[in-house]
Amino acid sequence: MSARAPILDVHAHLTPQRFQHAVLAGETWHGMTAEDGELENPKNLWLAERRIQEMDELGVDIQLVSPTDVFYQYDREPEVTARIAAGCNDEVAELVREHPGRFLGLGTLPMQEPALAVAELRRAIAELGLSGVMIDDHVNGAMYDEERFRPVWAAAEELGAFILVHQYWPTSVALRTEKYFLFNSVGNLVDRTLTFGALVFGGVMDDFPRLKVCLAHAGGYVPYALDRMDKGWVKFPSSRGRSKERPSTYVSRFYYDTVTFTDRNLRFLIDTVGIDRMLFGTDWPAPMDVDDPVRRIEGSPVLADEERTAILSGNAGGIFNRRASGAELAQ
Ligand SMILES: [Zn+2]
Repeated sequence: MSARAPILDVHAHLTPQRFQHAVLAGETWHGMTAEDGELENPKNLWLAERRIQEMDELGVDIQLVSPTDVFYQYDREPEVTARIAAGCNDEVAELVREHPGRFLGLGTLPMQEPALAVAELRRAIAELGLSGVMIDDHVNGAMYDEERFRPVWAAAEELGAFILVHQYWPTSVALRTEKYFLFNSVGNLVDRTLTFGALVFGGVMDDFPRLKVCLAHAGGYVPYALDRMDKGWVKFPSSRGRSKERPSTYVSRFYYDTVTFTDRNLRFLIDTVGIDRMLFGTDWPAPMDVDDPVRRIEGSPVLADEERTAILSGNAGGIFNRRASGAELAQ
């Protein structure tokens, strides 16, 4: 066993076998069909052993696995979404249990009904042993400054749950992004920037100071948007919402994955948010995942050795302090 701390990927997805068994047999799964689940991607069909084989090839020790974003299903009856979430979360927990040391898990929640979301969050963390949840950037158009979501933040803070924010369709910029793949290449990043704004201006980061929120896809446009948000905060005090400080003050309260595609952007992100806020992420097995992600960090000319260690394993150790690979993750 290696003495080094395990390399942990915080951004990796799974299409539940429960869903696949149903829809590939021509049935529906809580109303979901074979059209859902991105089954055209063969990696979404893989069982754990094949997944682990690719992790080994990539040099990833542990995946923090989340159900694919299509399983949010926030626009269904809350009870139906709650059943979908429970099935997904049970399966993620099974994977973690069956392959100790190779997987940690994130669940999904029926966010449109915060009381149900809190109940499932408590079950996911306390009973299933998951590490947190992945949530969309909005809930049927509602942003996270809304009061009704506060019980979810309170429970997440109390439970120490890690929250990965990750879009689904539609993003806020569905308009004028139908062509050229812009719905994804631009839309994902805009959505993440708006979520930063909602959590900051909504006072969520002030009122829940121990909340652990990771903005997927390298935080979207957050680093580039900060200056203008600060300027607006100074010039228009009536638009400050419940934020106590300038928006840029909060940038180092969030975590960010390394799903950038150039060293230039990675360096800019680190310089803006701080190396201690960076977590290794790949977006596996999406077509937009990062190529050869571990060796990319290990070989990046813009990173110092201690930054490589912080990104690949050190920072995650402070969050996911669970037993993995028979050794405690680094603190
Ligand atoms: Zn993703």
